[in-house]
Amino acid sequence: MISKSDLERILQRSESERPVLSLFLDMSVDNSNKRHHQLFINQKRTQFGELAGDDPAVDSTELDQALERVEGWLVDGFQEENRGVVAYAEVGGDYFEALQFPVPISNRMVVSDKPVIGPLAQVIESYHHHGVVLLDREHARILSVYLGTLLDEFVIRSEPIDTPHDVQAGGYSQSRYQRRKREEMKHFFREFVKEVEEFNRRYSPDDLVILGTDENVARFREYLSEPLLQKLVYTGPMSIDEQTSEILTRLEPHLQAERDREAREILHQVRDRVANDYLAIAGVQGTLTALQEGKVDTLVLSRDHQRDGTRCGQCGFVFARDLRSCPYCGSEALAAVDAVEEMVRMAEGQGVTIEFVEPGTVDDLRGVGALLRF
Ligand SMILES: [Zn+2]
Repeated sequence: MISKSDLERILQRSESERPVLSLFLDMSVDNSNKRHHQLFINQKRTQFGELAGDDPAVDSTELDQALERVEGWLVDGFQEENRGVVAYAEVGGDYFEALQFPVPISNRMVVSDKPVIGPLAQVIESYHHHGVVLLDREHARILSVYLGTLLDEFVIRSEPIDTPHDVQAGGYSQSRYQRRKREEMKHFFREFVKEVEEFNRRYSPDDLVILGTDENVARFREYLSEPLLQKLVYTGPMSIDEQTSEILTRLEPHLQAERDREAREILHQVRDRVANDYLAIAGVQGTLTALQEGKVDTLVLSRDHQRDGTRCGQCGFVFARDLRSCPYCGSEALAAVDAVEEMVRMAEGQGVTIEFVEPGTVDDLRGVGALLRF
C-alpha cells in the first residue's frame, strides 16, 4: 500500500541529467468491467513528436521506450483489484518506479526534469488512515483501514474473571450477579483500551471510529485517554460479527462527511484570517513566497490544479508568472514549471499539511490559500 514514505523517497531522489516520464492512470472499470487507460496512453503516444520538439533533451524514441516500460509493468505488475497507478520512467535511463492503489486518479502524463508528485500527494493526503474499533461486552475487533481497504485486523477476546468464591457460594443473588457482570465489563473494557492504545502507538492512525451499541460505546469512551478521545471522529451502531466489506461500505459516507467537514472548517479559517489579514495568504504568488520563507502551516489547494510558473535556475526561487529575468538575483536562466507542483514539493519537503479541496471552492482565494505559522 502507498504511504507518505513513498512520497518522501520520490522527493529525495537525486536528480539526473535525463528527463522523467510521469504517468498517472485511472484504472477504474466501467459497467462491463473494462478499463480505458489504453486509450489515454495511445492518445499521448501520438503527441510524442510534439513533446520532443518542445525540449531538445527529450528523444521521441527514448520516450516511447519509457512508455513501453510502463505498459510492460501494467501487464506483469498491475493487480486487478487496484484503481490507480502512478509510474515514473527515466527517458533514456534506468530509473523506474510504479505504484498502485485501490482508489482512482485522473489520467495525466508529464515529461519533466523530475518525477511529478502532485497527483500522488493528492491521493495520499486526501485519505486518512482510520482505526476502526468494534466491540461488545466480551469481544473487540480493531481494523486498520486506508484508502477504503482493510490493511490489518486484530481480534481481542477477554477471558471472564475467575470468581471461585461466588461459585462456591452456590449461585448468585440478582444484585451480586449484576455487580459481577459490571466488574467483568469494566475489566474487559480496560483490556480493550490497552489494546487500542497499543494499536494507536504502533499504527498511528489519523483518527478513530468506535462501533457498537450506544450503551457499550458510551461506556467504552469513559476509559479512553484524552489523546484517543481527540482522535475520535465517529461512533455508531454495528454488530461485532459484521463482515469487513459491509463495515467499510456502511462507514464510507460517514468518513466522507468527516473529510468534507474538515475541509470546510479549514477553508472557513483561511477565509476568515485572509479577511482579517491575520496569519493567512491567498493566491499563487503570495502562497509560493510564504512557502519559500518557511511560513506555511497548512496549504489549501484545489484538486487537479495546474498553473504555469517559472523557476530561477540560479537562486531556485519559483514565481507564478512568466519572467525574463529573476527579480531576486537577476539571472536569466529561467525554466518553465508547474507552480502547483512546486508548491506541493515545497510543502511535502517542509512537512506542511496539505488540504485538497473540490475545484471551484477556492476560486475566491484564487485557487490556493494557506494558514501561516508566523
Ligand atoms: Zn534568481
